[in-house]
Amino acid sequence: MDFSSKLLENAVDQVSQLPGIGKRTALRLVLHLLRQPKEQSADLAQAILNLRMEVRYCKSCHNISDTELCEICASPKRNKETVCVVEDIRDVMAIENTGQYTGLYHVLGGKISPMDGVGPQELTIGSLVDKVKAGEVQEVIFALSSTMEGDTTNFYIYKQLEPYQVKTSAIARGISVGDELEYADEVTLGRSIMNRVPFESSLKG
Ligand SMILES: [Zn+2]
Repeated sequence: MDFSSKLLENAVDQVSQLPGIGKRTALRLVLHLLRQPKEQSADLAQAILNLRMEVRYCKSCHNISDTELCEICASPKRNKETVCVVEDIRDVMAIENTGQYTGLYHVLGGKISPMDGVGPQELTIGSLVDKVKAGEVQEVIFALSSTMEGDTTNFYIYKQLEPYQVKTSAIARGISVGDELEYADEVTLGRSIMNRVPFESSLKG
């Protein structure tokens, strides 16, 4: 792409680094910004900076949070004996929307994916194991999407937890194979959490 302006080229380069945004889309977005009042670009830039510089993660579940302990972990109404393992905040939001789940979460921050250079150390698995080791957790529910990476991650964690005799279960399958949790509809997702099965039997399916 030939640009008549270095400033324009630089902005397009930056925007096109976002996932799913090619150069042409980036150019369209940048030109759109140029047509808007300058304040709008300033607000956008500031919001991104604030988010990036000030974002915090719950010290217990690792979900994005404005406070040291997120609202869910801090709530006395939540059942602290059940922990649902998810990939990121989108899954927490999807499961919360079902209104069916009253336990806590553990946000991994991704899935094990050697192809992308993501190993167990890059995720919050150690902190989950520590939590189980500490003894308050009675059940761990695996709610990662049923992709190869999701399955690998579930199995890795299952093996890590095996010595501690904690109950492990998996959300009912067959509704969203290969889909992300966030795309499952609320009723189906709620049902699949309620109808979860022991993790061992989910392996045979
Ligand atoms: Zn939390």
